[in-house]
Amino acid sequence: RRRAALANAARECRTQDGVRIEAFANLGSADDADAAVRNGAEGCGLLRTEFLFLERDSAPSVDEQTADYQRIADTLDGRPLIVRLLDIGGDKPAPYLPIAAEENPALGLRGIRVGLAHPEMLDAQLRAILTVRPAGQCRIMVPMIASLAELRAVRAALDAAAAAIGHTEHVALGIMIETPAAAITADLLASEADFLSIGTNDLTQYALAMDRGNPAVASDLDGLHPAVLRLIARTCEGGAVHGKWTGVCGGLASDPLAVPILIGLGVTELSSAPALVPEIKAVVATLTIDACRAHAAAAMNCISAADVRTLARSFRP
Ligand code: PEP
Ligand code: MG
Repeated sequence: RRRAALANAARECRTQDGVRIEAFANLGSADDADAAVRNGAEGCGLLRTEFLFLERDSAPSVDEQTADYQRIADTLDGRPLIVRLLDIGGDKPAPYLPIAAEENPALGLRGIRVGLAHPEMLDAQLRAILTVRPAGQCRIMVPMIASLAELRAVRAALDAAAAAIGHTEHVALGIMIETPAAAITADLLASEADFLSIGTNDLTQYALAMDRGNPAVASDLDGLHPAVLRLIARTCEGGAVHGKWTGVCGGLASDPLAVPILIGLGVTELSSAPALVPEIKAVVATLTIDACRAHAAAAMNCISAADVRTLARSFRP
């Protein structure tokens, strides 16, 4: 079994009919990078950088951040590392960030809105990421984008940071699709973003108007809701208009029942919890694209997430 697991870990992730699907892992600490590599992850699709910023009295310096990102990049040993810009605010407060108490933190100053409101923090993080070697291993991902103007502001900040430290290599700048606004306008965003990665946790919360932290609605918060699936389809179509790939780094990418549907909708990168990478790769290896497409089309026409789950349980690739 151990040999089979190791063979699976080493194998490139493809569907049965040979379509390449990148099997990445989500990391929330330097330790997670070890687990990802041991489990056969082909890269990191989401490094949640919050771990560096929370539970301390001042923001981490450029050097501190660089050291942490470099350690993770080294552990990944050349595999792509998608670093998400800081995603704190409202519900994830940092003592040194003066954000007034908000009545609706999920709809307030969070994600990239915080970075744009604190340009010195954004600049420090961008410089730290650009300093990691080899250049190009790190890609940058922007959380909670709701409009093209925000992406342009981040790109301007990235260009300024690169110029300030003499960084000349191209660095990929992608965005998370977490708001219905971003999903619906994915074609506009993809004209200037290098890749799209769907954060299904937030996208589901905002599409269904259900607070992901509220236990009273948590049981109904399911990314397989047909409304969310249609937003994912729209995102993949928007990305494809400009030849940009779409991935999923939210919880749906760790759900084996969801994987055939996501691939059928056009997703080509799945970033899951490190421990689940072997299972996700095994599921992908059983699939054919035509069967996934037909399955996804049927799922989008279901009337509830529960019906999609019933359908998904009977899916035979
Ligand atoms: C998401 O929203 O799906 C996501 C991956 O980001 P986070 O869970 O960190 O908000
Ligand atoms: Mg999110």
